[in-house]
Amino acid sequence: MKSIISLMAAAALGVASFVAPALAADKGTVGIAMPTKSSARWIDDGNNIVKQLQAAGYSTDLQYGDDDIPNQLSQIENMVTKGAKVLVIAAIDGTTLSDVLQKAHDAGIKVIAYDRLIRDSGNVDYYATFDNFQVGVLQAGTIVDGLGLKDGKGPFNIELFGGSPDDNNAFFFYDGAMSVLQPYIDSGKLVVKSGQMGMDKVGTLRWDPATAQARMDNLLSAYYTDAHVDAVLSPYDGLSIGIISSLKGVGYGSGNLKLPIVSGQDSEIPSIKSIIAGEQYSSIFKDTRDLAKVTVGMVNALMTGGTPEVNDTKTYDNGVKVVPSYLLKPVVVTKDNYSKVLIDSGYYKADQLK
Ligand code: BGC
Repeated sequence: MKSIISLMAAAALGVASFVAPALAADKGTVGIAMPTKSSARWIDDGNNIVKQLQAAGYSTDLQYGDDDIPNQLSQIENMVTKGAKVLVIAAIDGTTLSDVLQKAHDAGIKVIAYDRLIRDSGNVDYYATFDNFQVGVLQAGTIVDGLGLKDGKGPFNIELFGGSPDDNNAFFFYDGAMSVLQPYIDSGKLVVKSGQMGMDKVGTLRWDPATAQARMDNLLSAYYTDAHVDAVLSPYDGLSIGIISSLKGVGYGSGNLKLPIVSGQDSEIPSIKSIIAGEQYSSIFKDTRDLAKVTVGMVNALMTGGTPEVNDTKTYDNGVKVVPSYLLKPVVVTKDNYSKVLIDSGYYKADQLK
């Protein structure tokens, strides 16, 4: 039965894949738990991992958790029960998986934290991600450039947004960004009029665009009726889009009310279109094809008794252990280079950005 199913799966992939010898050998199932389909990047991640794992001869069980913690938990429990050999997990809340990972460990299943660190568990074997601190450094760097702070311009008003406090990455992004922005805040060249700083004040639960939009509405009405906001640190494109709608709602982007410099991350299509239109200022590109490649390399090594390649064994302490990691390099995207970075690399087709 299983071989009939894999033949059907191969047929569904088209003739080229059907004849690929790798598909003939089923090397076992890899469970892939992704957080949500509400952001395109995770859909790309899921598709890229499945494609590359199947080409390497593995079966895949890809599940999306709809940003619902119990839902993701039961999806992972199911993968364990059904006998996955390796789990690749991008957690919704990186602290809620300890029990199921204990079960996985007891069953001899290896665990790779994908993009987001899984915290509070000793049963996380490897971590494949991007240099998350550097993401924040780059985001803030675009604000410094966009405002001309290095040329001594200013003072400027800035507001800060953070990612979801249950996602370890959010702290790395924020800390990376603040490593660049804090000196300008200290010297008075950047002013946070609301005074809202620190992840406890600026975090955005579940990376929800509507939450960011509502917070921006409140900031504008409480602190900016007589002042102009010149920059907004936003950690993720979805939030940037919400923030920009809020700004446009009170007239920014029309007349002489210039939109602030707004950062972002993931190079999602609506944001790249916004960058092309001169609204959002920057995004960060994290090539999910490369992250999939690193992850599949780790799976292969684990399945064949090898040792996955890592390039960082110091940074990602999950509260129980330092998880050996492979960090990829994030890339800044602006109006000047989007075409080279996103189209020439084949990540998007020019048409998709029209
Ligand atoms: C990812 C970011 C993404 C965010 C929201 C983070 O864990 O690293 O790329 O923007 O989640 O989905």
